[in-house]
Amino acid sequence: MNEPKALIDLIDNKEKLAAMLAPSFPIIFPYPAIITMLRKLGFAYVVEVAAGARKTNKELISLLKSDPNGRCITSPCPTVVRMIKKQMPQYAKYFTHNVDSPMAATAKIVREQYPGYKPVFIGPCVMKKFEATEDVPEPNILVLTYLELSEIFNHYNINEQVNPDDHFDISEPGMTRIYPIDGGLSQSSGLYGQMQDGEIKIVSGAQNNIAAIKEFDTNPKIKLLDILNCSGGCIGGPGIKSNLTIEERKKKILDYYSSQLSTT
Ligand code: SF4
Repeated sequence: MNEPKALIDLIDNKEKLAAMLAPSFPIIFPYPAIITMLRKLGFAYVVEVAAGARKTNKELISLLKSDPNGRCITSPCPTVVRMIKKQMPQYAKYFTHNVDSPMAATAKIVREQYPGYKPVFIGPCVMKKFEATEDVPEPNILVLTYLELSEIFNHYNINEQVNPDDHFDISEPGMTRIYPIDGGLSQSSGLYGQMQDGEIKIVSGAQNNIAAIKEFDTNPKIKLLDILNCSGGCIGGPGIKSNLTIEERKKKILDYYSSQLSTT
């Protein structure tokens, strides 16, 4: 599917659209200018995916509480999910079944709050396109990368502009805004502070993941493997075009998290 063309068609046909903005957006787009620009494009609503991430965390905590001896590999990263299913299916049993990814959880919020509006996920990840079509087809999510969104802004000659009154229609001014940084799930859910030393392992980067999964399987002390495919987490995703280093991207996320704590 050509997602940018699909979005252009939806915009041109004046369809009802709700944008779901992934929490790595401050690396590319300033806030609240991005909201103004999305409204100019034709989005009636703009929702922060950090809100869905909060639901993800709640579901994960409840899963872990339901089985205190349970051990899990987190599953919001579609690349890791596919790699395990295809190359290491013996470890698929560890996935956090019945825990929605932040994108899927946010789409459910959009469908509940804004019936009839199509959820459009905008983020750093190409593989989310497969998650949307193969894993969670029901909310009918259209997925675009930040890179593709920038091309669409160019297509409609929309430049950076700010209406200071613009803000998220559904926002989450909490710690799930750090979700795209590796370990963001463990930190924002509070699990990192609650579990004992060595019970959580945080890993990111394709070169590290296979060894970490094998270690998880053989070391029962590790209860939770918080794993993302891209180096540094989703802030290193392929849909982000930026010269910033991973540390500089991390700082952008943390600055946004701190500066917006009480203003949304
Ligand atoms: S870590 Fe990379 S591949 Fe995985 S969800 Fe994030 S951006 Fe996508």
